[in-house]
Formats: sequence, structure tokens, C-alpha cells
Amino acid sequence: MKVAKVVVDVAASAIDSLFDYEIPTYIQSVVKPGIRVIVPFGPRKVMGFVVETTDHSEFDRLKPIDSVMDYQPILTPELIDLSKWLQEQTLCFRVSALQAMLPAVFKAKYEKEIWLLTDEEELPDAWRLITQGREVFLFQELEEANISPQEITQLIKEGQIEVRYVVKGQNRVKTDTYVEHSVDLPRLIEHQEELGKQARKQYDVLDYMIKQENSVRLKELLEQLQITRAPVKALERKGLIKLVQKEVYRGPDTNRDEHSYPLPLTTQQRQVISPILKSIEQNQHDMFLLHGITGSGKTEVYLQSIEQVLKQGKEAIVLVPEIALTPQMVTRFKSRFGDEVAVLHSGLSTGEKYDEWRKIHRKEVRVVVGARSAIFAPFENLGIIIIDEEHETTYKQEDYPKYHAREVAKYRGDYHDCPVVLGSATPTLESYARALKGVYHLLELTERVNEQSLPHMEIVDMRKELEKGNRTMFSDLLVEAINKRINNGEQVVLMLNRRGYSTFVMCRECGETVQCSHCDISMTYHRTNHRLKCHYCGDEHPMPNQCPNCESDAIRFFGTGTQKVEEALQQQFEHARIIRMDVDTTSRKGAHEKLLKKFGNHEADILLGTQMIAKGLDFENVTLVGVIAADTMLHLPDFRAAEKSFQLLTQVSGRAGRHELPGEVIVQTYTPEHYTVELAANYDYQAFFQREMQIRKRFAYPPYFYLVLINISHENHVKVVEASQQIANMLARELSAESQLMGPSPSPMLRIKDRYRYQCMIKYKKREEVDVALQNVLATFQKDVNKNDLYLTIDFEPYYFM
Ligand code: ADP
Ligand code: ZN
Ligand code: ZN
Repeated sequence: MKVAKVVVDVAASAIDSLFDYEIPTYIQSVVKPGIRVIVPFGPRKVMGFVVETTDHSEFDRLKPIDSVMDYQPILTPELIDLSKWLQEQTLCFRVSALQAMLPAVFKAKYEKEIWLLTDEEELPDAWRLITQGREVFLFQELEEANISPQEITQLIKEGQIEVRYVVKGQNRVKTDTYVEHSVDLPRLIEHQEELGKQARKQYDVLDYMIKQENSVRLKELLEQLQITRAPVKALERKGLIKLVQKEVYRGPDTNRDEHSYPLPLTTQQRQVISPILKSIEQNQHDMFLLHGITGSGKTEVYLQSIEQVLKQGKEAIVLVPEIALTPQMVTRFKSRFGDEVAVLHSGLSTGEKYDEWRKIHRKEVRVVVGARSAIFAPFENLGIIIIDEEHETTYKQEDYPKYHAREVAKYRGDYHDCPVVLGSATPTLESYARALKGVYHLLELTERVNEQSLPHMEIVDMRKELEKGNRTMFSDLLVEAINKRINNGEQVVLMLNRRGYSTFVMCRECGETVQCSHCDISMTYHRTNHRLKCHYCGDEHPMPNQCPNCESDAIRFFGTGTQKVEEALQQQFEHARIIRMDVDTTSRKGAHEKLLKKFGNHEADILLGTQMIAKGLDFENVTLVGVIAADTMLHLPDFRAAEKSFQLLTQVSGRAGRHELPGEVIVQTYTPEHYTVELAANYDYQAFFQREMQIRKRFAYPPYFYLVLINISHENHVKVVEASQQIANMLARELSAESQLMGPSPSPMLRIKDRYRYQCMIKYKKREEVDVALQNVLATFQKDVNKNDLYLTIDFEPYYFM
């Protein structure tokens, strides 16, 4: 008996293992690892992934597979193994891991279509009754005509047909009409000569067609010849030419930019690319950290490394943060590698994403440039993986499976014996520490290619402004600088960072914020009881009425929204044209690009936005970048607040003066003496790293310890407190002295969608004992999920503590 081991699409811990099903004979040739099937499960029928096929089972009475959903594997053996690893690493359900690797089309309701790849005449007789001249028809029609799965598989194998997935209610695969020869060239010429004067237009069409080797788009032909369809139709009736429907890929405009050629590398670039090329040539898995200041030519290093990979007949994955996946960035890859490039990002529709994925699956492209999930591109012969801006938190997925693309890249690089390159101007402390220890191979680019200097960064002390009696959000220096730009017809980028909530309190007179003495993070203000809490360790104080440092009563809650800043800005600069970019103005598809385009066309003087404007923008007319309040990032209740601020300040400053005109950066802050602000202004990454590492060591944070965050939520406040305490007790019993358990404590956002939220955190060095402890907790509490409505999430290497 043939047996399939199946991961069923039921997310519950008791079911999260493989189930054996009998493979009925009539589908034996189809059922392979990597296809999806429909199987009976209890009283229901559910979808499942086949991950293995064997000849025997430990169980004697197996239910048979009901039907197959795919006729070709949609997952490679490597990805099937990877899903197991993801499950173990992130403690997710196996089915979530499998689904995370596939484009969304496979989750939506869809129909299958059959596409003919050869002439209808070559098909078995029974098929012609179905096709009846059509080149595309529904899969369902095959089933209704009782065509056997073996036969379908056989024809797929022979390349006669193909199965494609179409989301129900969405656009079908996009097609266009093409004109082709129906007879050979000499006959076409013969007919052309026979055409009389009255058929001038038909003559022209044939003339056009004779010059074409392949098919031509009908639209193009009509435009070129300035004619209607009539002469084309007439020729079709005569059997000389034919009209056919052909698929065109949707989506990301393959802008036919000029081809770009490899630039002669600078000495530094040559030094850093040489070990990468060596790894590629020797099929060696190395992790490289490419630390290069903005404009040091990292991208050119990526491009030339990929070129080497393609020469070896291998494939490349390039990850770029979602927000930096701008047309400018994509063009750099497309103009170098042309049609070899697929692009995957969240701006594409489900259908467009599927199109891009299919190019990879069919091996029509060998380079993919994409956001996080492109790390799962189903390539089978990878030669390099590149992660640009490796410090970006978007590489960590916040939903299950809560994976980090960097770790998946490492797994795949190891599997394919190929290098992984992490690039950044401001690497994460974790990566840089690994590089210094020799775990990663450190490569550094310290100079800009064009030898331009980085723009000067000016720090403005907002406490002094208050002293002077300036109560606006804008310092005199910033106002003056903006006015100068507007008068000169130059442009300004203003950033206001507002990630999550600003929940901290600060003294406007001296800049003091209240920190937890155990955790070195800002205490969080809780409105309900007017107290300050640390949500790492749970420590709390009453909210002070006076600044503990200077006794001023100007101590209050901090935070302004972009909309308020926009209003203030408009008041201050009456005639300025302002574009605001934040989650509200960019939620609609394409809005982001539209606003940027407007700014690029100089239809505005000031671009005001959240951190989304810090990345990847390149406008030659921008000569001033302003940061409204560096403090909103510095005092997030997050141990990475300083690191994130340093990264953001470095990045946003890179937006100014990228071309001929020199740039200037103005950073407003209430804490100018903070080492982060000072060192960012000097572009001194090394010093910042040393400084910040001391703090991480003192408070036992990464990279000295690993972290795992356990979130517990329930509609009932008392229940969640009880459960959190029980969980903490269980963990405490299992963990050795080497690990530190913190909490339970309320999350900074205590209540979301009517659910109260608490958290525990473990700082650990050895994963094994944490796994044991957490498995215990899951076994006890996950069964409560349905019964008691208690939600429990576990997040390794967490980035959000809200
Ligand atoms: P990064 O990715 O490090 O910010 P880029 O790769 O964008 O830097 O390079 C900055 C600019 O320098 C780009 O305009 C790029 O085309 C150019 N550039 C890169 N390498 C070279 C080179 N070897 N010779 C000339 N120009 C280069
Ligand atoms: Zn004070
Ligand atoms: Zn604390």
C-alpha cells in the first residue's frame, strides 16, 4: 500500500503532527511530497500538505486521500524540511510554516484553469470534446468528463498542458491578442503579390507580418499601421494569419530602462567583494557582514556578486526592506539583469504576486528582489542570498511563524553551500558583535564612492528654545533653514517619529525622563491609575508632579501626531506646499508612490512624514532634513530605543545632499547630551557600538543574552493576571539560574480590542531549557485557548514590546 504523510490544515496543538493516509491507486502517480490534497478528518474534509510518501504505516486502517489539489509540487523538498525547522525554531504549527512559504493565492478561494501549451490536435480524443477550440478552460470540466488524474499528470509532464490557479472573483491570468503566421513565409509572400490595389491595407499587414519572425501584439500592429481590425480579420478568414491569446505577466512594470554595466570597482569595493566571490566559486557557506556607510557602493558589490552567481548557472535572492523596495531600487536590478529578475512586495495584488512566484517556480528568472517572504523563493540552486539594510525590523515576521529572515537565510545558505551577505550602514548590535567574534566575516566600506562628505548634522537643544520663550514645535534655526530653502526653490524633508504610542513622560525644562532602575528603559505612563510602570519587570511608581531632577512642574506626557505638526507647519510657513506622509495618507494602494512622485516633481516644498520617509528616497533637490523630536525614538519603552534612534538618524541624514547641492541636517531634541544623538551626529558607529554594548552587558540584553517574550491576553483582567502568574510560576520552576525570568507585567498597551495583555520575558543563554519550560506551558495552556479564550503567544528574538 502507498501511504502519504500529511500535515493537515487544522491549527491546534493536539493535531500538530503528521497523519497517514492511503494513496488510492488512481492518483498514485500524482501524489508526491509538496502537493496539497483534500483528506477526511473526523467528520470534515480538510486541506493538507503531503510531506512524505512511503510504503508502510504503523497504523492498519488508513483513510484514503479524497482528492488532489495540485498536479505538480508547489514546495521543494528543501522547503518541506525548512518548515520543520521553522516549527521547532518558532514554536508554530507546521501548517503555518508551510503556508508562510507560499503566495497568498494558495490560501484564497481559487479556481484551477487548464492551459493548452500545444496544438489541440495533439491531445487525446476525449479532450477535444472538452476543449472545442479553446486554449483555456476550467479544470472542473476535466473532472466532469472523468478524465483520470494519471492522464492529466502525463500531459503536464509532456508539456502539453499546464495548471494555473486563479483567485475567484479576481482577474484571471491576463492575456493579450497576438497575430501569427498561419502559413510559411514563401506562401505569405506569394499571397501578398496576388493582392490587388483595392486591398492596400491587407497588403500592408502582410508586409508587416513578413518582416516579423515571431508573433506581434495586435494592438501594436494596428497602431503602427494606423488601421482598424478589418484587414486583419480578412486575412485571418483567408487562413494566412491567425489571432491567438497569449499570457502577459501582470504587474511590476518591466520598465525597459537602459541596460547598466558593471562599474570598475574602487579599491575598497574590490577588497570586500573578493572574499564573497571566493565563497561563490568554492560553493562555501559563509555569513558576511558588509558594513558600509551610505553611498559607499554596497549595491554595486551586490550586483557584481550576483553576476558571478549567474555565470555559474545559479540563482540569487535579494531582500530589501518593504519600504525601500522603491522603483528606483528595482530599476537598479532590472537594468543590470533584465528579464532574469522577479520582484515580490506587498504592493502587488494577489494575482501579481502569484505571477512573479510562478516565474521563479518555472525557472524563468534567476534573481528575485523582494521583501521578507521572498526568502522562501522556491529556487533549487541558490548561489547567494543578500539582505540589504540588515538592521531593519521588518525582516522579523510579527505573525506566526515569527521567523527572522536572517536566520532563514542562514539555513538556506547552509543547505545550498552558498554565501549570505548582510549589508548595512548601521548593523544591529547582534550582527556586529558576531562579526567581531569571527562568527560572521566582517567587510567594511568606510568611504563614499564619489568622495562626497556626509551632510553636517546640527543638534538643537529644545530646552533652550523654551527658555527663550519659543513655545512652537520649531526652533528658530529650523525655521530659518526652511525659509531659506523655500526661497531658493529647494526642498525639505521633515521627520517625526511615531512608532506605536509615545507613552513616556518627560520634563520639558531639563529633558529628564523616568527610567526603570532595573531595566534601563523608560517607564510607561498608565492613565487609568496615574502611575508609571516598567513593563519588562513590573516595577511601578506614582506619577511625579514635579521633575525629580529640576523640580519643574513642566513634566508631562510626550507626543505629537503628524497631523498636528502639519497644521503648525502650515501656520508657520503660510505659503509652503506640504505633503504629509504617514499611515493615514498612505493606506490606499499606490498612495505612497503617488505622494513621492508629486514631491519628486517638485509639486511641494516640504515632505513631512514618519520614519517611512527615512529610507531609500533619493531626490536631488532636497538640501535640508529636519528631525522634529529625536526624543520620541530615544525614549520608547524598548531596550533597543537607542540603537533604533542611531539607525534612524543616520538613515534620515542620508536623504540630504545626495547630489550636487550640499545637504544639511537639523535634529531637535530635549536631550542633546545623550550619547546616541552625539555619536549619530558624528557618524561614529564604532563608538556607539562600544557604548551601547556596555549597557547591554550591564542589563543582560542581547547580544549577551537571548530573549523570548510570552504574551498572555484575555477579556477578563483578573483571569489574565491569574494565568500570567501561573505561567510565570511554571517557568520559574523549570528554568535554571542561568536564565532570568522577568514579569509578569502589563504590556505597555494594556488593552487592545477589549483584551487585557500581560507579558513575561526570559533572558537566556541555552535554548534547550527554555524549550522544555515553554513546551510545558504550551501543553498546559494551549488547550485553554478555545475553552477559556486565553491567548498565548511566544516570540523568540522579539522586536516589539508593546
Ligand atoms: P550604498 O548602497 O552603499 O548606499 P550605492 O551602491 O547606492 O551605495 O552607491 C552610491 C552611488 O555610487 C550610486 O550612484 C552608484 O551608482 C555609485 N557607484 C557605486 N560603485 C561605483 C563605482 N565603482 N564607480 C562609480 N560609481 C559607483
Ligand atoms: Zn526637569
Ligand atoms: Zn524594569
